[in-house]
Amino acid sequence: MGYKAPRGTRDILPQEASRWHILEEKFKELCYIYDFAEIRTPIFEETELFVRSVGEESDVVKKEMYAFKDRGGRELALRPEGTAGVVRAYLEHGMHNITQPVKIFYYGPMFRYDRPQAGRQRQFYQMGIEVFGTKEPSADVEVIKFTAEFFFKLGFKNLKLHINSVGCPQCRPSYQEDLKEFAREKLSSLCPDCQKRALLNPLRLLDCKTESCRNLMNDSPQIDGYFCNSCREHFSEVLKLLKVLNVSYYVDPRLVRGLDYYTNTAFEFISENIGAQGSLGGGGRYDNLVESCGGPPVPGVGMAVGVERIVLAMEKEEFSLGKNEPEGVFLAIDGHDFREEGLIMLYSMREKGLRAEIDYLNRSLKGQMKFAHRSGFRYVIILGREEKLKNEVKLRDMLKGEQLELSYEEALIFLIAERGHTFFRGMSPCSEKNN
Ligand code: AMP
Repeated sequence: MGYKAPRGTRDILPQEASRWHILEEKFKELCYIYDFAEIRTPIFEETELFVRSVGEESDVVKKEMYAFKDRGGRELALRPEGTAGVVRAYLEHGMHNITQPVKIFYYGPMFRYDRPQAGRQRQFYQMGIEVFGTKEPSADVEVIKFTAEFFFKLGFKNLKLHINSVGCPQCRPSYQEDLKEFAREKLSSLCPDCQKRALLNPLRLLDCKTESCRNLMNDSPQIDGYFCNSCREHFSEVLKLLKVLNVSYYVDPRLVRGLDYYTNTAFEFISENIGAQGSLGGGGRYDNLVESCGGPPVPGVGMAVGVERIVLAMEKEEFSLGKNEPEGVFLAIDGHDFREEGLIMLYSMREKGLRAEIDYLNRSLKGQMKFAHRSGFRYVIILGREEKLKNEVKLRDMLKGEQLELSYEEALIFLIAERGHTFFRGMSPCSEKNN
């Protein structure tokens, strides 16, 4: 075999894709309920947009961005995250001039050149929501509650919500100064990246994955001692409202996020079952982002979850994204004479919205039954000489192993009624164990 998917990417094969669909449906259903409308932005943007928003000194921009010049010499980058493009579109299309808040969701692939490992890829999918135009703590809570509910609906019961406030440009600098001072004493023991962070972006010292750095920073000053009044009030209101809504949380004073645009609230939903890359999703407030992308001062808050990591965690926790139950109907034709009649039946079933299939390889009846079973069809309609003489078909339930003889019209009515059942089964919360 000559070609392989590029390192850090993977194919989502049909079987897995059907599980992704369920996840996507749940997300979109919740967006509808919470009144978020979809936006689709390009996969690449001007590199400068990410530099200005995500932050020049962030790892994402400095080390992980797929940046390139196109044939016209433009500096472009594959998007490493979704918010920057959404902010660009929000401004470009004058959404700051319409009634606020503007509530938007997005879904699509993101790209980061990082060392691949379980739960970390170079192309991965994020689903995210953004709320523009309100500073209210209730908007932060809306985004967190949405995320908590999304995970709950998928069947997660043991995720931990870590939450912190990263302050604002008024109160953060004195904290950063003290953090820098603290790190200066330990500079030679820190990893080379942290030695740079200590000078350029001290908050990021708290986010180093190296064990020795984490230990060294363990008793660093904590940001809550530095909050200005407005940051303190905002954070305590967010926590109060979370309590009111029964969302349990863990205040983690060392939680900072990989993107530099956050102000005030920052949060992550962590799974303890999938190893180092345990964050399934996270987000926070970004009150200065719109302005730093060239717009007026518009506050915002949002979050993104990673699809691959959620699927991985669900596999580890041994619950499935709904069962792959057999459904639909396979039309088995016993003898060439009925081929044309069979095709008419096939398309009439499809017209009625039934998942329906036929044999294309001239298999024997036995071969067709085997194929139908392997392909996950719940029913088989058998049309052959014997049935034709009686103006009937056989309808076989592959799950129960039962068989009926009835007219084709009766079989069709039965299958349409059954599809209604399957539909409702598919809509039920899916926290069942994998069988
Ligand atoms: P971030 O945009 O860094 O806040 O990440 C939000 C979520 O996206 C994380 O919690 C992960 O679920 C997912 N994610 C981030 N980076 C990657 C990656 N390299 N591979 C897979 N998922 C990722």
